[in-house]
Amino acid sequence: MRAVNEIIVHCTATPEGRPVTVSEIDAWHRARGWSGIGYHRVVGLLGERWQGRALDKIGAHCEGHNSATIGIVYVGGLTRDGRDAKDTRTTAQRKALLEELIDLRDRFKIQKVSGHNEYANKACPCFNASAEYDHLFEGRSKDFYPVLDRVLFRGRTGNDVAIWIDRLMDWRKVTGSNVILRPGNVFDHDVEMETIIFQKARGIVADGKVGPQTYGEMERALLGQKPYLALEVA
Ligand SMILES: [Zn+2]
Repeated sequence: MRAVNEIIVHCTATPEGRPVTVSEIDAWHRARGWSGIGYHRVVGLLGERWQGRALDKIGAHCEGHNSATIGIVYVGGLTRDGRDAKDTRTTAQRKALLEELIDLRDRFKIQKVSGHNEYANKACPCFNASAEYDHLFEGRSKDFYPVLDRVLFRGRTGNDVAIWIDRLMDWRKVTGSNVILRPGNVFDHDVEMETIIFQKARGIVADGKVGPQTYGEMERALLGQKPYLALEVA
C-alpha cells in the first residue's frame, strides 16, 4: 500500500434522489481521458459501499492532492432540479460514509478528513467535512499537513523519479522505438530531454517538467490511447 494520510470527500454533483453506479462514474472519467474511475470508494443512495479505483493506486479526484489521499464520493450533491449545490446525503448514506471513514482510519495512518472544497474553488462535497469528522482523528491530526503531489524536474532524485524513468522506457517500447534511457533515480539532462521528446510527441507543453498533465498523458500513452488534446479537437 502507498503511504496515505488523508481522506478527501466528494459528491457526484448529481440531482438528489438520482441513483448513480460505479460503472457510470467510471465512464464519465474515461470520457475525460483518465484510466478509469478517479475515486477509491463510492457511497450509493441506499448506503451501499462500493469499491472504485483500487486503494493502492493513486486516485484522480483532487488536483495536486492525489498522491497521499484516498478519495470517497457520495452520490448526490445537487438539488432535485440539478441547479444548486446541496448536502443531499440520506440517513443511510451518512451512516455508510461514517463507517467507511472509520474503517479506513483504522486500516491506514489517516490523520484527517477534508472536503474537496477545502482545496478547490468548488462546492463539492456540499458540506463541511472537516467540521463534521475532525472528532474521529483526535490525537492523530496534530501534526497533519497535506502532501502535495510532487512535480519532477531536472535535479530531482528519488523513487518517483525512478518510476518516471521506467514509464519513459515503457513508452519507447510501446511506440516501437529504441529505448534511450537506463533505469535510475536521478532526473538528469537525458531524462529531461526524453521528457521533452515525449511531451512534444503528445502535443502538450514541452517544458521537461513532470506534473499532473504529463503524468496523465503518459497514462494515456501507455494504454495506447490518443493524446488528450487530439480528442478535444476531434
Ligand atoms: Zn469533488
